[in-house]
Amino acid sequence: MDAIAAAQVLSEIGYLLRQQEKERFRAKAFSAAAWSIALSRPDVEELARAESLTSIEGVGEGIARVLADLVKTGESRYVNRLREQMKQPARDDETNLDFQDYMGDIHSHTKWSDGRATMLEMAQGAEAMGYRYLGITDHSPRITVVHGLDAERLVAQSREMAEVQKQVDGVTLLQGIEVDILEDGALDLPDAVLEILDVVIASPHVKLRQEPAAMTERMMRAVSHPHVDVIGHPTGRRPGSREGATYDFEAVFKEAARNGIALEIDCDPARMDLSPEMARMARDLGCDFVVDGDAHAPAELAYVPMGLWMARRAGIPKERIRNFRPAWD
Ligand SMILES: [Zn+2]
Ligand SMILES: [Zn+2]
Repeated sequence: MDAIAAAQVLSEIGYLLRQQEKERFRAKAFSAAAWSIALSRPDVEELARAESLTSIEGVGEGIARVLADLVKTGESRYVNRLREQMKQPARDDETNLDFQDYMGDIHSHTKWSDGRATMLEMAQGAEAMGYRYLGITDHSPRITVVHGLDAERLVAQSREMAEVQKQVDGVTLLQGIEVDILEDGALDLPDAVLEILDVVIASPHVKLRQEPAAMTERMMRAVSHPHVDVIGHPTGRRPGSREGATYDFEAVFKEAARNGIALEIDCDPARMDLSPEMARMARDLGCDFVVDGDAHAPAELAYVPMGLWMARRAGIPKERIRNFRPAWD
């Protein structure tokens, strides 16, 4: 078993525990351990043999026991028990998604809005991950607390991008935006601006508890917009801490599929807001997906290798995940 496969199991455990009020602390510990392993990719088999799994940062005695069982038997009795407890059905159609084939992340933030790193640092992070492309998708103006980008700042950002692009060879930088879906379903930037960007992710951030009929209408407008490529974290749910939006998921996902708009599987362990069940429903309705880290720092790019389990559990084939394509178009 390799480090990434192990990280995915720990990540799933973190996700499942997060749904239980009293396990929130343990959930975070599992997610943190998964992240640490996805980042440093230790030889888990060797460490298990030497009984020194606790030498991995973030892995204490309890997690080491779960990890040892997993590495030695190739299966985790702990995750199986949790799945049963949480009524996660046994699946016989999990897909084989190898992180080796993942080509690029299209959702990331920089200091231009609420990211904690410069564009250059993010680009170098993507290069270190072996990506061919990286989408820089900072926030739109409505999110004033994070200094969202209007047309003028986007132009300034594109100048910086041209400079940064010269300094990173292997990674194509894509200029995008994470544009807010306003309360009435309109987007937070004019069409003329959205049109020229490489990636447009439309996300609901505010007023998530809108009454379902209004929320459905709002989301239907977003998935009918000609310049939208992706719906970011489609429910806004934060397992264990925030419920997220409720709307007619079936109608909205169907319309997204019809218009070729992908749904995002956000691998930030605090999000993962499309449950495997919802992702599976979207798959059955014909949707495409993007799997991304929503990284706000280079280290968070490693959310993707640990979070891929969700797409696998949802049975989404590689062809339906746009990040597995050699280029973003
Ligand atoms: Zn967002
Ligand atoms: Zn984001």
